[in-house]
Amino acid sequence: MDLGRYEKHVLLEEIGEEGQRKLMKSSAAIIGCGALGGMIASLLARAGIGKLIVVDRDFVEMKNLHRQILFDEEDAVNMTPKAVAAMEKLRKINSSIEVEAMVADVNPSNVEEIVESVDIILDGTDNLETRFLINDACIKHNKPWVYGAVVETEGITMGIVPHETACLRCFLPFAPGGNTCDTSGVLSMAATTIASLQATEAIRILVGEGARGEAIHLDVWSGSVVPIKVERNPECMACGKGEYEFLDSSRYSSARILCDGKTVQIIPGSPIPSLQKLAERLGRVGKVERGRHVLKFRTEREEMIIFEDGRALITNAGSVERAKALYAKYVGI
Ligand SMILES: [Zn+2]
Repeated sequence: MDLGRYEKHVLLEEIGEEGQRKLMKSSAAIIGCGALGGMIASLLARAGIGKLIVVDRDFVEMKNLHRQILFDEEDAVNMTPKAVAAMEKLRKINSSIEVEAMVADVNPSNVEEIVESVDIILDGTDNLETRFLINDACIKHNKPWVYGAVVETEGITMGIVPHETACLRCFLPFAPGGNTCDTSGVLSMAATTIASLQATEAIRILVGEGARGEAIHLDVWSGSVVPIKVERNPECMACGKGEYEFLDSSRYSSARILCDGKTVQIIPGSPIPSLQKLAERLGRVGKVERGRHVLKFRTEREEMIIFEDGRALITNAGSVERAKALYAKYVGI
C-alpha cells in the first residue's frame, strides 16, 4: 500500500506508518450524515479509513447547506438522499477507499447488522432515541462508538469503548420520552468542531491509543472547553446489566412523529410499487416532483416524500393516524 498521500500522518508520532496502515485496514459506519456526519465522513475519508458506510434516511435540502459541508446546491435541487450524495463526494475525495451508502432509517431491525459489519461507529444522528439504540447495539456486540451532539453554539462528545469506558446510559441513565431534536438553531462551527473531536477519537481508538476516557463539552462562541469525567455505573441498564431495551422492536413503531413535531415517518411492512408507477398514479390527484431516488407529492394541505424502499415522510397530516391513512390512500399499502 502506498502511504504517499498520508505522509503527514506518517510523520506524526501519534499515528506513524504502523498507525496509518491500521487506519487503512479499518472500517467505520457513520450513522446520520448531516452537520456532524458529513464532516466526520469527509475527515475519515481523507484520513484513509479503508471502508466507510454512510447511513442516512433523509435527502438534501437548501436549508441544510449552512452547516452540512459535504453537500451543495445541486444535491438540494435534485433532492438527493444524503447517503448517496455523501458517497459520491467521498469517492471523489479518496478513490482508494471503499464507500457504501445506505438510504435507511436506523432502527432495531438493522442496527445490529450495521454495527457488526464495521470496527467503529460514529454518531451523526439528531435524536437521543437513535443514540440509545446505537449504544445498546455497540455494547451488545462489543464495538466502540463515538457520541456527538450539538445545539446552538455548544456541543458534547464522548468516545465509548464497551466495558472499558462509561457508556451513554451511564452518562444519561434515563430513556428519553421521545425525540429531543432542538429547534433553537445551531452554529455550524459548533458542529464542525464536535465532528473533528469525534473523528479524532475514532482515529485514537483505531490506531490502538484508546478512548480519551472522558466527555468533552465545548462552546465555540465563548471558547470554553470543559472535560467531564464520566464514571461507569454498575447499575447501568446497558453496560452494567446487559439489558438492551432499545433493541426491542416493539419500542419502535412503524409510524412516528419526527423531531420537528409536524412530520410523520411511515415505514411500510411490505414493498411498494416503483416510484415511476407511483408518480404516474399520484400525478392525477396532486403535484408530483421526482428527485433522485425520491418522489415528492403535494396535495392542498399535506406533503409526502416517498423513498424507493417505501419509507415516507408526511408533513402537516395533523396526527400519526391521519398520516397512516394518507399513506394507505395514496401509496396503497
Ligand atoms: Zn453503561
